Amino acid sequence: MDRNKKLIIVSHCILNQNSVVAPLARAKGPFPIAKIFLDMGVGVLQLPCPEFKFLGPTRVPMSKEEYDTKEYRELCKNLFIPIIEDIKKYISAGYEIKGIIGINESPTCSITGNRGIFMEEIFKLLEKEEIFIDYLEVPTDYSEDSNYIDFEQQVLKLLK
Ligand code: SF4
Repeated sequence: MDRNKKLIIVSHCILNQNSVVAPLARAKGPFPIAKIFLDMGVGVLQLPCPEFKFLGPTRVPMSKEEYDTKEYRELCKNLFIPIIEDIKKYISAGYEIKGIIGINESPTCSITGNRGIFMEEIFKLLEKEEIFIDYLEVPTDYSEDSNYIDFEQQVLKLLK
């Protein structure tokens, strides 16, 4: 079977809400947009969850300022280095990276507004390699119980 050579990069918890701070989970497992990736046959590069790696599943909510230490930034940077190597290999082999989807208002994975620490490190490394990727964010009120057609339309548009 032919592969379609399209990939999307996603924050870890888009596919695994078990990784989020306990009371903040918004789905039992993946967010419903995971079904769009499946339906469109787009491969998924799942980023690691830096907060989970740093403080585990019983951590409490913390602000960006509280996370913003040299140690945490190093962790974020080091987590992305092997992934950017994969991205470069895909791009040079003619694959299309359709975008990166983060989590709005996360101290680690937010992209717009007050950018999260992991995304700051990710976009710094991407820019250094002159790789420019479109992005989207999961809105703060999106959940498996919400009917968020606008956001799902944006995901569809990004993947086309
Ligand atoms: S937003 Fe980022 S750091 Fe927070 S749970 Fe999701 S993947 Fe982990």
